[in-house]
Amino acid sequence: MSIDFLKKYFFGDVQSSSDVSSVAFQQSALRILLALTLCIFLVSEVHFLFTAGDYSFLAINSVYLAALIGLLYLSRRYEKATAILFLFTLVTASILLLTLSNEFHAEKYALISLYSLPLITRLLFTFKASIVAMVANLYPFYLITNNSWMGSAEFLDSANLLTSADALAGASIAPSFYFQMLTFVTLNIGLPLAVSRIIQTLESHAIKMKDLNQKLNSHYAMYEEFFENTGTPSLLCDQRGKVLKANQLCRHLLTGGIKKSLAHSNITDWLTPAGENSRFAWQSDMAECTLKSDSQTHINIRRASLTEHGHLVIHLENTTELKAIQQELESTQETNSRLAHFDVLTRLPNHRHFCQQVNQRLAEHDKHVTGAMFIIRISQFKLLNKQYGKDNANKVILSFAKTLTHKLSDQAVVGRLRGVKFSCFIPLSQTYLIQKNLSELIKSILPKQITVEGNKLNMEYQVGIAYYHTDGKNAEALLERCEMALEYSNSVERFSFYNNNLENKLIEEHTLGLSLSSAIKNKHITIWLQPQVNASGDICSFEALARWQHNGQYIPPPQFISIAENLGLLPLLAENLVRALVETLTDWQKEHIHTPIAFNLAGQELMNDGFFAFLMALVTDKPWLKDRLELEITETSPVMTHPLVHKRLRSLSQYGYSIAIDDFGTGQASLGQLVDIPANILKIDRRFVFPLPHDQRHVDIVKSTIQLAKSLDMKVIAEGIETKEQATLLIAMGCNTLQGYYYGKPSPMTDWTSHSNAKAKTLRMVY
Ligand code: C2E
Ligand code: CA
Ligand code: CA
Repeated sequence: MSIDFLKKYFFGDVQSSSDVSSVAFQQSALRILLALTLCIFLVSEVHFLFTAGDYSFLAINSVYLAALIGLLYLSRRYEKATAILFLFTLVTASILLLTLSNEFHAEKYALISLYSLPLITRLLFTFKASIVAMVANLYPFYLITNNSWMGSAEFLDSANLLTSADALAGASIAPSFYFQMLTFVTLNIGLPLAVSRIIQTLESHAIKMKDLNQKLNSHYAMYEEFFENTGTPSLLCDQRGKVLKANQLCRHLLTGGIKKSLAHSNITDWLTPAGENSRFAWQSDMAECTLKSDSQTHINIRRASLTEHGHLVIHLENTTELKAIQQELESTQETNSRLAHFDVLTRLPNHRHFCQQVNQRLAEHDKHVTGAMFIIRISQFKLLNKQYGKDNANKVILSFAKTLTHKLSDQAVVGRLRGVKFSCFIPLSQTYLIQKNLSELIKSILPKQITVEGNKLNMEYQVGIAYYHTDGKNAEALLERCEMALEYSNSVERFSFYNNNLENKLIEEHTLGLSLSSAIKNKHITIWLQPQVNASGDICSFEALARWQHNGQYIPPPQFISIAENLGLLPLLAENLVRALVETLTDWQKEHIHTPIAFNLAGQELMNDGFFAFLMALVTDKPWLKDRLELEITETSPVMTHPLVHKRLRSLSQYGYSIAIDDFGTGQASLGQLVDIPANILKIDRRFVFPLPHDQRHVDIVKSTIQLAKSLDMKVIAEGIETKEQATLLIAMGCNTLQGYYYGKPSPMTDWTSHSNAKAKTLRMVY
């Protein structure tokens, strides 16, 4: 501590820029001089005290000592004044010594002391003051050179400047004078001038340094300002990540606005590299990080440059919002892509994506692989929708899709095409090239029942199948073929395989469909009537049968009825036909002809609200019509099992309509359903009548059917009677109404309405 203190006291703070000034230098010089002088006087004081010599000298010494201590003290505050006083004491002491002291050596010391004044003056004051001191010293020099040559010789001798031989000679005055001169010039002029020169150099350097320093400071301030206001959070760090400097934005970003210093911290104290980036990610050109204090804040760091000192300038960017937008964008893109590729309900690939997947599979695998594409359509789904509501119907679809994907292997590709159509592609082994085997395989993956809200629904499907690669080489072609095959599947033949003929058939049906559609709209479909007779052969009723003549030939009713059904035109056709029938029946009513006419319903008409309302309205308008218009509904109709049809038939029955179950025994109507449907007529199909009377098995079937009808209090009609034997047998078995070519073929309704016609006449004869 003491050494440091002394160092600072005497030399000042050399490191400090303020001490570069001449003032500090002068202060330091003054202190050193004062202290050294003080030391000498102190030692001499002690010396004189203990040697008990000249007391007057001791007194003078003491006075000086006190004066020096005083000056040293004063130097702390009044530096210039102290310096003047110091010089003054030095001068007085020297003059006193020179004039008062008897001791010869004292004069020499006084002289040296005086000659050193210009140097000290230069050190403590200015160059000018030093010149004044130099000039002032001419006087003592003059005194010395004129007073005593001996003295000066002795003086020179004591200063070892003169050899003893020279001193004793005394005669060589000139050289001693020159030595005097030399001493005077060296000490009084040379040294001060030399030192002055050095000081001047130092001072000019100091000024330059100061100037430089100022410039540096202003540059520093400029860079500082620039760094602070770059508009980007930036920091400067060393190669180990130690933060050397950070601008306001950076500090705010890293500390989250809390006024915390970043000094001496490391980048890794503030940032955590995101993902799999290494700890030293900040050393790379770009890196993603998160804030250590808040992992939700994402920060991108970018190494801008490496400074000459090996420092790194790093720019930071808060990417949290950007990241959030990016994430939102990604999720939107994902949703869009999902919507574009997958079905929302089942999450199965949609049509396009299904094709893409199949094509990709086909491209990846061996070209010789065999496979099958098939479309499954859930039958009567509209009815399901109607009965259980859309939500439950969706549940059925969902459950079906799950079962399907679950039962198929990973090799299969499943998709949802539209509505209730699902597409599948499966690779096949040779065994399944046989259609029957493939049908069995597909059957095994289709759920027979689906439970919705506790209700077990019996499921039925139609399937269109095509083989890869005989029927098509890519997904699109195969799907097209499957659609064609599906067109030809029906309630009886549910599995339909594509073949070349189908295509032509489909085209034919398409053109036929167009013609049929206009025929229905233009009411070109006519009604033919076939009589139904009682046991005595009298006409008791008619069956109305639709006829369509297209391009000069009659199209079989089952064919155009089915096309109309597919085109959704069946309700319109039925309404047109019923209107025509009602017209005839109204005419007959006026003529008191009470023969009823039976009208065929395929089922779809009854599901149609408009047609159902129309039927109900008819009996409200014309109550007598209920006894004249009978409704035949075929047992094989797919809607026969539907509760809504049952409900509507019950309503129609309550309104008084007679209801006949057509083609009894050919479909899957159970006895239970027979009870459910409020039918009062049972029609035995001609398939059972045809083998009569020779086939005993059929005789038995017909007999038991008649008995069943009787027990249910139903009227029985046997149709397709072509021979007398058949008629006789049926009458014998108790059948009350008979229909067939034997009694009369269907003929245009006009045959029965125009008065001139023989048939019309026979009909009128009955009444
Ligand atoms: P269906 O209701 O069983 O009609 C009886 C069919 O048997 C009629 O054929 C009739 O011409 C035929 N037939 C009658 N007696 C004999 C016979 O002794 N021998 C033979 N071989 N056949 C006989 P058609 O007119 O060709 O009708 C076929 C089917 O078309 C009908 O079968 C019926 O299901 C449907 N159909 C006809 N007209 C309509 C209609 O207006 N609406 C609806 N929905 N279906 C109709
Ligand atoms: Ca019928
Ligand atoms: Ca029939």
